[in-house]
Amino acid sequence: MPKIRVVQIAMKGGPFEVVQRDMPQPGQGEVRIKVQACGVCHSDSIAKDGLFPGIPYPIVPGHEIAGVIDAVGTGVIGWTPGTRVGVGWFGGHCGRCEPCRRGDLVDCRNLRVPGLNYDGGYAEAMIAPADALARIPDDLSAAEAGPLLCAGVTTFHALRESGARPSDLVAIYGIGGLGHLGVQFAVKMGFRTVAIARGADKEPLARQLGAHIYLDSAAQDVAAELTKLGGAKTILATVTSGKAMSAMIPGLAVRGRLVVVGVGMDPIEVFPIDLIGASRTVTGHIVGAPIDSEDTLAFSALTGVRPTIETMPLERAAKAYDKMMRGEARFRMVLTTGL
Ligand SMILES: [Zn+2]
Ligand SMILES: [Zn+2]
Repeated sequence: MPKIRVVQIAMKGGPFEVVQRDMPQPGQGEVRIKVQACGVCHSDSIAKDGLFPGIPYPIVPGHEIAGVIDAVGTGVIGWTPGTRVGVGWFGGHCGRCEPCRRGDLVDCRNLRVPGLNYDGGYAEAMIAPADALARIPDDLSAAEAGPLLCAGVTTFHALRESGARPSDLVAIYGIGGLGHLGVQFAVKMGFRTVAIARGADKEPLARQLGAHIYLDSAAQDVAAELTKLGGAKTILATVTSGKAMSAMIPGLAVRGRLVVVGVGMDPIEVFPIDLIGASRTVTGHIVGAPIDSEDTLAFSALTGVRPTIETMPLERAAKAYDKMMRGEARFRMVLTTGL
């Protein structure tokens, strides 16, 4: 039986261990992916620290998976060995719950996530259900595709679903793992793009990513500045502070939307009149279905949007994870297998 290397977590709170396992075999409706790259995401801490109930330890984390199909299980139609594919947070839907039956796959009440519900991409090979696959265009490397399957689809799909139209004022709040992609997507979608971050030192980066306007939240009343510019049709909030997001709401245009994608632990607070007075909306957004991931990859290949990444070999997963958790990744860490 051929062996593969995987990086597993044996128990809640346990270390990353590089171990050998038997080559997994795809079951009905599944494919085996030869993993070339897997992004390291803050959400991997859910597996590391056991933040969700029922994680099947030992677990291989990783949900920003890019590689090539190398085996196909029974009953799989339309996916063949040799096809370049990726899997993101969406790792399979049930097809039975109400959102599924209404075609809203990403809101499946029984959504499966690779690296949480089954073994993910910190590995040389993994098994994924065929309904979770997105095709990767030829001119996108596996290492670039990885983060686009999580941070990328989150920001791309949130922006295109936000109701903003080309030439509208759109603000991206935060320029980190999510925001550095959000700024690029907003510019390429034809929005008048405002980047918002703390400190004057972030401005050159924001400009380099294509932002038309930069606002420094440490030095300026950002909501007032947005209002002077006519108000933002969409503010994509990628930061992790509910309090900081709250302060942005008065900067929304009439019928503007605060779209929340950053996971914070404190509440968003809003004066009812700030919503009522201009018919504003505060809404959440979660990644996208595999076809949305595929659109994200195709749009990125077409327009030149790329994540800024630092790669490390698979066996250095612990180091890559620690660097990401310390907030020192510029901007996404990606593990590569050399395959
Ligand atoms: Zn992620
Ligand atoms: Zn479902």
